[in-house]
Parts: sequence; structure tokens; C-alpha cells
Amino acid sequence: MQIVLATNNAKKAAELAAILGELPVTIVPASSLDDPPRPVEDGNTFEANARKKAVAFQAATGGWALADDSGLEVDALDGAPGVYSSRYAGVDGDDDANNTKLLEALANTPDAERTARFRCVLCLRGPAGEEILASGKLEGVIGRERRGDGGFGYDPLFLIPSEGKSLAELGAPFKNIHSHRARALAQLEEKIRSLVDRVETS
Ligand code: IMP
Repeated sequence: MQIVLATNNAKKAAELAAILGELPVTIVPASSLDDPPRPVEDGNTFEANARKKAVAFQAATGGWALADDSGLEVDALDGAPGVYSSRYAGVDGDDDANNTKLLEALANTPDAERTARFRCVLCLRGPAGEEILASGKLEGVIGRERRGDGGFGYDPLFLIPSEGKSLAELGAPFKNIHSHRARALAQLEEKIRSLVDRVETS
């Protein structure tokens, strides 16, 4: 089975491909398409945006397409930046500016109130209109300074209290097992397996 990864974010694609590497599927990164679609992510939910990307890439390739929409929800900011995570500071994908804005927004927030979570929704679309949705989350706390240089996005500020480290310090070995994206992929895999089992037994 060939699945095109519906993302133009190279670091996200690398994480998805690393985790999916264990499944019997061939991953085609969006960057290998001649003219990859660039759907506008204007949905109000992670699910709406993931579906929009999967639909666009499925239509462009005719095969199976897997899209991820993800983001950070900070409790003290009423769930912001949420679906606006990649353009929180104004410019899409400017991780450094986003982290600076987050630190400023939480400058007066005490440690006990800096709880947050990453969320990920995956949408897999097939050529006959098939759709499988899956989701995952990872709880943590927003630190007061950047730590580590692994990962991407808000990883340097996202602390895992049980590990005493940021996601950027923990890097791929931790993220590939415990991240919101890894958990959503595990759920997707389970859903695909139970679908296959149902087809085989019917
Ligand atoms: P989108 O899903 O492409 O709309 O963007 C998601 C945005 O959420 C990224 O640009 C990051 O700012 C943030 N984000 C999502 N997943 C992660 C992660 O694993 N680590 C750090 N930041 C993330």
C-alpha cells in the first residue's frame, strides 16, 4: 500500500515516516510531488484541517493520503494557540517567533498554571472516499526558557514533568513513542487492523 504524506512540513513528515516505518506501507513525501497542493488551513478544528489536507492530497494523487493537523493548547490561554499554532506570531512556520510570543504571553503565569497539551488528529483518505480518523494528545507544562535543540515547533518550551526535560531535549527516541502524533498513529494502526480483520472475517 502506498500512502502520500499530506504535509509540506519536512520535520513533521520525518516524524510520521519514522513511526510509520514499522508498517507494511510505502511512504511518499509531499515534496516528491511535482506540484503539491497547498490547501488553506482555515478550519476551526484540528479535524477539519486534517480532513481538508487529506482530501486535497488524495485528489491530487488518486491514491491514499494521510494528513496530520496538530497544535498546542495552553490552559492559561484558554486553549490558544490551538489551530493557529503554526502562525501564532503572524508568520506561518516561524517557530522561534512563536516561542517568543508564548513566553511573553505566559510571563506572569505561575508555574502551577502553565499546563498545556499537544493534540494531533490524523485523517487517512482513500480513492473510494474511505476515511479513517484518529487522535492523540501529550500533556506537559510550558517552561520559562528554551531547552534543547531536537524536534521542532514548541518542543524547546514543552516540558515533560516525569522526565524533567523538554521535548527538544528528549528528541526522537521519546517523541516516536509518546508524542501526540505517535499516539494518534497507534490509534490509526489499530483502526486499520480492525477494519482488515472485519473484511477478512466477513
Ligand atoms: P499544522 O498542523 O501544520 O497546522 O501546524 C502545527 C503546528 O503546531 C506546528 O507548526 C508547531 O508549531 C505545532 N506543533 C505540532 N506538533 C508539534 C510537535 O510535535 N512539537 C512542537 N510543536 C508542534
